[in-house]
Amino acid sequence: MVYIITGGPATGKGTRSDILSKALNIPHISTGDILREVALTDEDIKERLAKGELISDDIITKLLEERLSKDDCKNGFVLDGYPRTISQIYLLNEVLKKLGKKVDRVIELVVPDELAFKRILERKKCIQCGRAYGIDFPPVVEDICDDCGGKLEIRTDDTKETLKKRIDTYKKNSKEILEYYRNKGLLKTVDASSHSERIVEEATIDDYNL
Ligand code: ADP
Repeated sequence: MVYIITGGPATGKGTRSDILSKALNIPHISTGDILREVALTDEDIKERLAKGELISDDIITKLLEERLSKDDCKNGFVLDGYPRTISQIYLLNEVLKKLGKKVDRVIELVVPDELAFKRILERKKCIQCGRAYGIDFPPVVEDICDDCGGKLEIRTDDTKETLKKRIDTYKKNSKEILEYYRNKGLLKTVDASSHSERIVEEATIDDYNL
């Protein structure tokens, strides 16, 4: 099964995708994480990410296709952060077609903007494995990842200014993207203000587009 987890910044896409991926035993593929790794050696991408700007469809789609072609994705995956533009809907369809797959389920996470601001300014991410921590779910040892022992850092794009830009970009682009999947009968919108563990039930119970 191919699940897409979508939603604005700090709606908890990463946390919920992780929970779902572990429960279903399929990988969590985050285009943000892929890009943050590339940014370690690519100054241009590093700068764009820090400004909260989208990376070109060409670059991100190529990186995504490479990742989805790996063996661990053959039974499906949870995709987080893609598609983010209208053209990426069709680019994804092409990539999936080559892999003999299609989008099965799309879950949109919604939280009030004020909560997104609060979460984002308080969150840290593991620089090694990408796991996110927040005020409600801190690590056992301060600034050290529970899973891999990596160092936790605040993301360079987690500032008030870039957050506003990222929320605006999401609102501008998401309408048509959601409409596309709604028309296909694949969309479910869930309240992501709390209870992240509910995502497994929310994603797997078949009441999409009701
Ligand atoms: P958030 O949703 O909190 O902004 P992500 O980790 O999903 O966090 O993405 C971080 C950044 O990576 C985005 O602001 C954007 O610059 C870039 N990015 C991620 N996915 C895509 C994509 N599909 N297309 C273009 N840029 C992307």
